[in-house]
Amino acid sequence: MSSPQVGARFVAGLGDMLVQRQAIIRRLQWIMIVAYVFLLTVPLLLPLPTNADFIWSNLTRFAQFVFWGIWWPFVVLGTALVGRFWCGLLCPEGALSEFASERGAGRAIPSWMKWSGWPAVSFVSTTVYGQLTSIYQYPKPAALLLGGSTFAAMAIGARYGKTKRVWCRFLCPVSGVFGLVGKLAPLHFRVEPEAWRRNSDHPVRHKAGVNCAPLVPIKTMQGASACHMCGRCSSHRGAIRLAWRKPASDIVHGSGRTATWWDTVLIVPVLLGLVPAALNWSNSGVFQVTRQWLVEACVNQHWMSPLSLRLPWWILTNYPAASDVMTIVDAAALILVIAASTVLASCMFLVPLAFSSVILRRRFYVLHHLAQALIPIAAASLFCGLLSLTIGQLRSDGIMIRYVDLLRAATVSAAGAWSVALSFRVGGLYQQLLWRQLAASALFALPTVAFLVGWVAVLLK
Ligand code: SF4
Repeated sequence: MSSPQVGARFVAGLGDMLVQRQAIIRRLQWIMIVAYVFLLTVPLLLPLPTNADFIWSNLTRFAQFVFWGIWWPFVVLGTALVGRFWCGLLCPEGALSEFASERGAGRAIPSWMKWSGWPAVSFVSTTVYGQLTSIYQYPKPAALLLGGSTFAAMAIGARYGKTKRVWCRFLCPVSGVFGLVGKLAPLHFRVEPEAWRRNSDHPVRHKAGVNCAPLVPIKTMQGASACHMCGRCSSHRGAIRLAWRKPASDIVHGSGRTATWWDTVLIVPVLLGLVPAALNWSNSGVFQVTRQWLVEACVNQHWMSPLSLRLPWWILTNYPAASDVMTIVDAAALILVIAASTVLASCMFLVPLAFSSVILRRRFYVLHHLAQALIPIAAASLFCGLLSLTIGQLRSDGIMIRYVDLLRAATVSAAGAWSVALSFRVGGLYQQLLWRQLAASALFALPTVAFLVGWVAVLLK
């Protein structure tokens, strides 16, 4: 047997193992839930950490590091490398939503919940709210946002669907981003339609239905965007198995072809505009200039309350004991910077993408397919930006990781080159003439390189 065949059998075996080990997976999910609830709630009872507290000596610092230094960046990385296993196997929120749904009312899913804009809207609102309340620094906003999201997931589970993860499929704030990043993964559950038909009289155990909790239409599933990789359908009808695929093949030949405006919104204004600004506003000169301008405008108008009014911690950051208070002017400057970055990214990327679509001589939907080619750079910039939280927390405890900034810059640059290469492959699907493909990719490369230059400068600062 050749080594690719051995590799294929090995991963297919891993997929089958997931079906056989559902009891162990469920126990693992309960362990994750207990750890999650513990790290979210116990820091609420403790005093805020001081400069003398370290990750290894203070539970609040440890919880911050687990949530924002490990969980958030490395789940993004894991999703790009192996698909959405986190969602299907370990996510405490998804598991709680499904457990609630097992005993819930089982109502039909309302049509408003199926609106395709929810992933973008919920990601944007939670990201901005998280910045306004300093979610990365303090346990109360973390408990409010994460705990509130978990409570909502359970409430939705208890009301809609039976043993399903309706929340994860339609409303989870990070589901849309994970769905995009998962398209890069070289692993997926492959459906073979021919085997499905052939095995219509397959033994009963395969004819029994599969409970796909995130409501993926298994028979017609393409790609791994919506699939949570729970493995429950592995070997169903002898037609589904965990399999290797070319990384990003889903972008070029799979679900990338049917991408919509909402996918493009999540990639361009959100991941390439809002996220870099949300992760770097506090170090940004633009923020300081905007803030100063707003302060002067308020003083000129004799409006003092936006400069001095303190709002509760659940509206704006308010920790006077830690000398950390966000005024209305600070919040307005933050929102303006994020909005400006979002508009800038939209103009910078969408105009060249529109021209590239014209050069490829196709209709407007090509723009959305080309935007999918930006997923590598968007995912890398998200991961490397989030790593700032990891590095910052370690540095404040005296732990330096050599060359990490160079590595981050190299990762984002390599992802940018990958994006441009993908745009060329996408162009090849719509246009035979080489010069048109090259011209479309050259246009695509312009904003990509500009974004890279700016992002690398931030990472190396
Ligand atoms: S299609 Fe559904 S059941 Fe199959 S692995 Fe994906 S999430 Fe699980």
